Amino acid sequence: MKIFREPKKLQKWARGRRTAGAKIALVPTMGYLHEGHLSLIAEAKRRGADEIIVSVFVNPVQFGPNEDYDKYPRDEKADLAKCRRAGATAVFFPTPKNMYLDRHSVYVSEEDLSKGLCGARRPGHFRGVCTVVAKLFNLAHPDFAVFGRKDYQQAQVIRRMVRDLNFDLSVVVAPIVREPSGLARSSRNTYLSPAEREMALALSKSLRTVKTGCLVSSERRRVRRMLEKAGLRVDYVEFVDGETLEPVKTTKKGACVLLAAFAGRTRLIDNRVL
Ligand code: AMP
Repeated sequence: MKIFREPKKLQKWARGRRTAGAKIALVPTMGYLHEGHLSLIAEAKRRGADEIIVSVFVNPVQFGPNEDYDKYPRDEKADLAKCRRAGATAVFFPTPKNMYLDRHSVYVSEEDLSKGLCGARRPGHFRGVCTVVAKLFNLAHPDFAVFGRKDYQQAQVIRRMVRDLNFDLSVVVAPIVREPSGLARSSRNTYLSPAEREMALALSKSLRTVKTGCLVSSERRRVRRMLEKAGLRVDYVEFVDGETLEPVKTTKKGACVLLAAFAGRTRLIDNRVL
């Protein structure tokens, strides 16, 4: 397994592999890898990638000033071992300094799907995500890139960016991987105390209770109450069209329920496509 730290070196190698006819998959992550990330590597393998490049980069540009950039969990050694075991052929570990050169001044912003949900609560977040993912696309020359449905809005925003900026690659979105308890796997779960972990179960539990064919107004109230009763502080409970992310009035099939809530100081998200 190759390890790259220099963007230029990755780019040169990936270009060579692409020219030689290799099918390249990119799996962008912020590291502290768990089963969710590993499922994306497995998906890349399943789709016949010859090279699977996993990027591990806690991207400062997508964090707000009061968010957890500094304390975001990092474990390079463990991540390398997991990538190797999962079948990655290359890992990219850049530093903020070599990703964002002095006077970096070009950003990518998606201006439709990023407006609501997490975009509204985390100003600048998707601009940071789009910028770094666009850079990774230019460095890794992937035929396809794999993202998780866990970050539903992010996946839609990236799809739109790829469409609108004519990136020559396809976007694959893989299902949410959960713990046996139902809790969606997340690097941020390590922040949770045992009591908060218990509270956090209400996210997946409440999602499972949503029925199709109901009025959103009453379902939203009911889900919100479930989350609050468990001790969570609700950031949002939204029912949207799975494609446009526009609010829907009834819980129709294909609609998506998205939740964001705080367990103590930890912000968790989860979703379900009806
Ligand atoms: P992150 O490291 O949290 O930025 O996530 C990197 C990629 O892994 C994103 O495409 C996420 O959607 C995906 N991912 C994170 N957690 C999960 C999960 N539990 N199931 C599936 N994909 C996930």
